[in-house]
Amino acid sequence: MAQQHPIDINWDMQADVVVIGYGAAGAATAITAHDLGAKILILEKAPEGEEGGNTRVAAQGYLNTSDAEKAAAYLTALCGPFTVPDDMIRVWADEMGKNNEWVASIGGDPQEHQHPPAGVEYPDLPGSDSVHKFHHGDRLGYAHTWCLFANAVAERSIEILYDAPGVELIQDGVTREILGVRAEQNGESINVEAKRAVVLTCGGFENNQEMIRNYLPGVPYAYTSGTPHNTGDGVRMAQVVGADLWHMNNYAGPSMALKVPEHRTTFGMLPLHFSREQPGGMIVVGPDARRFTDEKLHTAHGKVELNGRWGPLRTPCPMYMIIDHTLFSAGPLYDKESSSGWNRIVEQYEWSDDNSAELAKGWITKADTLGTLATAVDLDPAALTDTIDRWNAQSASNHDPDFNRTLMLAPIEFAPFYAVELSPSMLNTQGGPRRNERAQIVRPDGAPIPRLYSSGELGSIYSYLYQGTGNIGECLAFGRIAGRNAAGERERG
Ligand SMILES: Cc1cc2nc3c(=O)[nH]c(=O)nc-3n(C[C@H](O)[C@H](O)[C@H](O)COP(=O)(O)OP(=O)(O)OC[C@H]3O[C@@H](n4cnc5c(N)ncnc54)[C@H](O)[C@@H]3O)c2cc1C
Repeated sequence: MAQQHPIDINWDMQADVVVIGYGAAGAATAITAHDLGAKILILEKAPEGEEGGNTRVAAQGYLNTSDAEKAAAYLTALCGPFTVPDDMIRVWADEMGKNNEWVASIGGDPQEHQHPPAGVEYPDLPGSDSVHKFHHGDRLGYAHTWCLFANAVAERSIEILYDAPGVELIQDGVTREILGVRAEQNGESINVEAKRAVVLTCGGFENNQEMIRNYLPGVPYAYTSGTPHNTGDGVRMAQVVGADLWHMNNYAGPSMALKVPEHRTTFGMLPLHFSREQPGGMIVVGPDARRFTDEKLHTAHGKVELNGRWGPLRTPCPMYMIIDHTLFSAGPLYDKESSSGWNRIVEQYEWSDDNSAELAKGWITKADTLGTLATAVDLDPAALTDTIDRWNAQSASNHDPDFNRTLMLAPIEFAPFYAVELSPSMLNTQGGPRRNERAQIVRPDGAPIPRLYSSGELGSIYSYLYQGTGNIGECLAFGRIAGRNAAGERERG
């Protein structure tokens, strides 16, 4: 089906520009192309109420750079040895400085985050003073910036089909032009014609375990705190029509979080949060019952520096957070105050204040002794006891020579003891089809696939290091570029 001649196809629906995926990238693309006079159809895989992707549950910050030269230097430095072509750097740097102007143009109120320079991920890199993190309105988080984008879409005559995943691009077998997309709606297959272009804005592969195993370094499996609907569909659709891929091994993660079968996405654990101090003892061990990191480390979106090179935090799975009763009884183990994340914003899961509901569900394992706790979670009892003895001695001397941890140096001493299994978790992947400076998806030889564009985290520009708020910033910047160029395509006869 991927390659057909237009004459063979029965079209069920039609638009000038078909946008596949409704998060920030889809919204920015659709609004831009609409305002240039194009008829837009957005296909969204999630049911109504679950649209918005990672954007909806993000912390709501977007990047606006203040100086294009400095911004170009900063992005170049972020790429390190994983270089990105200069023309892409230049376009990113020029367009990222226009995000505030665009947000204001759709009725937004750009407000700078109140905690610089902490918001700058790599302050020592050249050009870092051009980095400014913004959000819309008077509060950060709680889907607030997303609601601005969604309202701007709703104010326009932009049609959205929910529960309608794009499945396969329809390509002219002779000219290689993208003619439209085969999608599903209510389980039925529909052919949607794009008179000008298709734009893929359907996010990354956070929920595709096979792609995670194939592409992400160091993790046998991983989950997300974002949308459960991003399953790498855009990567597959683009590959079938000949796209090159880039940045497949780069992602915003891992962190360590709780994933349970009853929920599709992860819960962040409060004791692991780098900025929270709680009473009681806590460590994390790997399958050998040994510690492997500073559990309170503030990573750079999952990356840690080792021997002068940044790489993902080590996550030997399965990992267990071991705590004592002092910490267990100090309050909820889940970060209930968070203003982001799927379980918080969309599912609105109410974690019990005393952790009793989660203990009863088996998400937390309890035992009277460390030996029985170890046996219950399949760790070696002698090794776990040895690890805890060592930790307790270190915390008594206020010094962790193993991993230089400086926060919550408290012994694990009061029974009963508890274990929470942790999994690698991420915010989002950065890899996908390679795009050029016009937001066109390109083949391995660099030639654009005619009438096919992308924006957002699907094939993001970030190749190595990532600056927080850079993803939504890129959604807006490349969304506008994709929207302009898609709307500017000549209409197919
Ligand atoms: C907890 C959390 C906090 C974050 N905080 C920030 C932040 O403050 N700032 C920042 O810049 N970044 C942040 N990020 C990352 C950022 O949210 C994402 O990278 C960004 O929102 C991606 O936008 P997008 O439009 O590319 O994709 P998404 O917003 O994920 O939207 C993709 C959409 O495509 C849909 N879709 C998937 N497959 C198909 C298909 N086959 N057909 C049709 N539709 C499909 C999905 O349902 C989804 O609605 C955060 C992420 C998380 C999880």
